[in-house]
Parts: sequence; C-alpha cells; structure tokens
Amino acid sequence: MSKKTLAYWKDKADALQFEGRAWIDGQYHGAQDGRTFACVSPIDGRVLCAVADCGAAEVEAAVAAARRSFDTQVWAGQNPRARKAALLRWAALIRMHEEELALLETLDAGKPIRDTTSVDVPGTAYSIEWYAEAIDKIGGEVVPADHHLLGLVTREPIGVVAAVVPWNFPLLMAAWKFAPALAAGNSVVLKPSEKSPLSALRVAQLALDAGIPPGVFNVLPGGGEVGRLLALHGDVDCLAFTGSTAVGKQIMQYAGQSNLKRVWLELGGKSPNIVLADCADLDRAAKAAAGAIFYNMGEMCTAGSRLLVQREIKTALLDRVIAAARRYTPGNPLDPATAMGAIVDRVQFERVLGYIEAGRAEARLLLGGSAVQPENGGFYIEPTIFDVPQAGSKIAREEIFGPVLSVLTFDTADEAVRLANDSEYGLAAAVWTADLTQAHEMARSLRAGTVWVNCYDEGGDMNFPFGGYRQSGNGRDKSLHALEKYTELKSTLVRLR
Ligand code: NAP
Ligand code: MG
Repeated sequence: MSKKTLAYWKDKADALQFEGRAWIDGQYHGAQDGRTFACVSPIDGRVLCAVADCGAAEVEAAVAAARRSFDTQVWAGQNPRARKAALLRWAALIRMHEEELALLETLDAGKPIRDTTSVDVPGTAYSIEWYAEAIDKIGGEVVPADHHLLGLVTREPIGVVAAVVPWNFPLLMAAWKFAPALAAGNSVVLKPSEKSPLSALRVAQLALDAGIPPGVFNVLPGGGEVGRLLALHGDVDCLAFTGSTAVGKQIMQYAGQSNLKRVWLELGGKSPNIVLADCADLDRAAKAAAGAIFYNMGEMCTAGSRLLVQREIKTALLDRVIAAARRYTPGNPLDPATAMGAIVDRVQFERVLGYIEAGRAEARLLLGGSAVQPENGGFYIEPTIFDVPQAGSKIAREEIFGPVLSVLTFDTADEAVRLANDSEYGLAAAVWTADLTQAHEMARSLRAGTVWVNCYDEGGDMNFPFGGYRQSGNGRDKSLHALEKYTELKSTLVRLR
C-alpha cells in the first residue's frame, strides 16, 4: 500500500486545478450559450468546478473537427509507427500525471485513491500502450483467388468514432474505446458522463502535448443529450457505447433513424458467482465474493451481484463473506486505507437505497442496509447482503450498480446453471469447484462473455476480449478483436492480365 497519507492527498486535492471546458479541435471552449453545470464531489458534496454543458453547437463543432482531421489524413495517413510513437508519448504523459489524474477520478467519482492510483490511471496508460504497440505489427491478407487476380484484404479506419461512456471507471472505460479507435487511425469524439467529466478533459490536453493533431481527439462534457445528438449525427461513422441497457437500446434506434452508423454496446450485468460444495478454498471464495460486489462500491458492470451457493456450505460460506465484507467499511476515498468510497452522486445513492428498501420487503437482510456518513455531505452506503428466497425477486434480477449482494441457494449443479442463465444479461459468471471437469462443463453452459473458474475479476491484461451476451451488449472491448469495431474490411481485386 502507498505510504502517502490522507493528509498528503487532502493537501494535493486542495491545490488541484480543474478544467471544465469542452475540448474541440485542440482547444478548450466554453459552451456557446455559456451554459454550465456544477461538478459535485460525492465525497462531501463540495462543488469542484463549473463544467460546460455542451449542446448541438458543440456537437457540430467537434464532429466537424473530427471529420476534417480524418479527411485530411493528418492522423489516419501517418505511418502506423508514427501513430504508435505519439500514442506512447501520450501514455507516458498520463503516467507522469498519475497523481493528478487519480485525484480527479477520486474527487469526481468518489473512488478510493488506492484504486485510482493502482487501477484507473495505470490501466488507462496501459490500454493506450497496448494498442500503440500492436498497430504497427498487424497486416492485411493476400487471399487465394483466380490465377489472373491478386486479392488483397485490408482493414481501414472507419472515420469519425464517437465514444459515449459511463462514470464507474471514467478514464478506463473511455480508453478501452479511444485507444483502439485512435491506434487504427480514426478521429474520436468522446462524451464522458456528466457525473465524471474531469479526467477526460485533462487527458485531452496531454494528447495534444504528445503530438496527436488537433481535431483527432475531442471531448464534449454534458448530459445524455450530447450522446443522443452524436448517435443521431449523420457524420459520425461509429458509436461505441458503455452504459446501461436502457440507453443502449435507444442508441441502436438513433443509428437506425439516421445513418446506420456502426453501434457497439457494452451494457449492464447481473453476474452469477457460483460456489459448489466441493470448492477447495472457502476463504478465498468468500474474499473474492465480497470483492466481486463491494470493490468500486459495487459500481461494476461485472459485479458478482448474485452469489449462488450450494446448500450444504451456505452457512460456512456466508459467515466468511460477511467477515470479508468488513474490509469494505465506507471511508474517505482520499484515505489510502479506504477500500470502499462514496457512491458517485445523489441520484445513484438514492437509487441504491431504493433497491435496499425493496430488498427488505422480499428478502432477509444479513448485513448492512444503511447509508453512513464518514464525511459530512457525502454519499456512502454500507456493504449490504440479502438472503433471497425467490430468484425472481427484484433485487436478484435487476442491476443495482451498488454494494448490494443477493444470495441464492441451489442443490445441484444443473440447478445452479439454470439459475445463473435465467437473466436478461450475460456479461460475466464464475464457478468455484475442485472438480475441473465440472468446472469446464459449467463454463461451457454459462451464457456470458467472461467466465472465471476459481477466481473472480482476474485478468487485468488486455488480451482478454471483454463484453456481453444477450442484453449485456454486442462487440468486445480489449484485445485485438476490439480493432475490428473501429475498422472496415476491404477486398481489393487486381486483374493482372
Ligand atoms: P447510462 O445512464 O446508460 O449512461 C451512459 C452514458 O450515456 C453517459 O455518458 C450518459 O450521459 C449517456 N446517455 C444518457 N442518455 C443518453 C441517450 N439518450 N443517448 C445517448 N447517450 C446517453 O449509464 P451509467 O449510469 O453512466 O453507467 C452505468 C451503466 O453502465 C450500468 O448499467 C453498467 O453495467 C454499465 N457499464 C457497462 C460496462 C461494460 O463494459 N459492459 C462497463 C461499465 C459500466 P450522462 O451520464 O451525462 O447522462
Ligand atoms: Mg462527479
């Protein structure tokens, strides 16, 4: 753990400068009509700064800048080695500004500083490095064809990519989109969530400093209307979205109403974490089960929000999960000892408390269930666990996106798989068992984009494609497969004689 203290981070936070203006064509701009919204820290309710509330004028300007930079080939036309070099310089600058960026994430979104310094900011730099390093090593194909033909299959950047992202990992979710999109040669317009715009606005300046040309990377803070306008825009070629299933459905419709832009959706989840009675290490399983739902305040698309436990080990496992949950006592996110910070804002805080109220009526409360106040004016909720008798209960079906765990009980492995798959989502799943055959058979049966065996949330490296089955979305972030989303495939046939 970091030797830096709460006092160290508080001093740094007090000295921090905030930039709330939009970043368009290599410059900061206020909204044309002067409109702003207040950026409020969920740590203590303090207003951090005013942020430009972008609208149609800014969307037009940013898309036009992105289009211009794409059409003039200032970025797409560069040798991939040159794009790699600029992206690596950007990643290096992000690493140099790690403390500042981590503080912005922590102040804006309530995330523990221990996580923003160890996961969010280094993970963002790593994502950029990974695609930078890949992009000058990927070639096209020369394919079999008639003897008189030369057949080439190549990938080309799509053009203007808009990325609309949520607030739970503000920079990292954005980087999973803009890093492959930019590496492939596209120009990007990023819309961060209005709940967490500050870090994206800061890294935009660093992109220019690194030599990424003006117009290639633009950031528009504002509400959902900015996302809607981007999704409806005729000059946006691709919209990569991470967020809720409800908004994802709307974005597909906007694409259909406009130019059929490519739409890629990383959406919600209600992921099952299955522990069989023959699990070899209940302590480890319990710790992982607590981490799966309480890490990042439960604001995790992959949260293991349904713990499915085999009846004979239920008491033994739950005693351990409850003990492991103590590590997640809410505290000031600026304290390096804090593992559970603040809920992102009042709206989400009240939403989670609403689910807890529903849970009290339909399930048995085993732990937590209340708001707490480690810092005055902030939004904090205790780790909460319900024993849920009915799989159809609201809290066991709907994504809560907060620190609330539903425990369901099963008798056989088949029943566990049925319960696990009985969901509109399919983002992730886990199974704990000492029997490897059982593990593989269950992993095959689970309808989810990621399956962990005897672990949860492991695999921070970029090699694993990440995304969902069913209403958890389409397409995959991370890995070389993500480049497929931001490129068009072209067949070129040359008649030789
Ligand atoms: P959200 O409400 O769907 O918002 C996501 C983004 O869409 C925000 O930037 C939002 O702007 C914008 N938006 C809102 N309405 C829109 C509209 N009509 N058209 C276009 N854009 C619109 O989701 P959230 O509350 O920010 O994030 C939580 C959700 O994200 C959860 O469901 C979680 O599971 C999901 N998530 C998924 C993944 C994954 O990889 N699968 C990762 C992280 C999170 P404003 O916020 O400014 O309104
Ligand atoms: Mg905020």
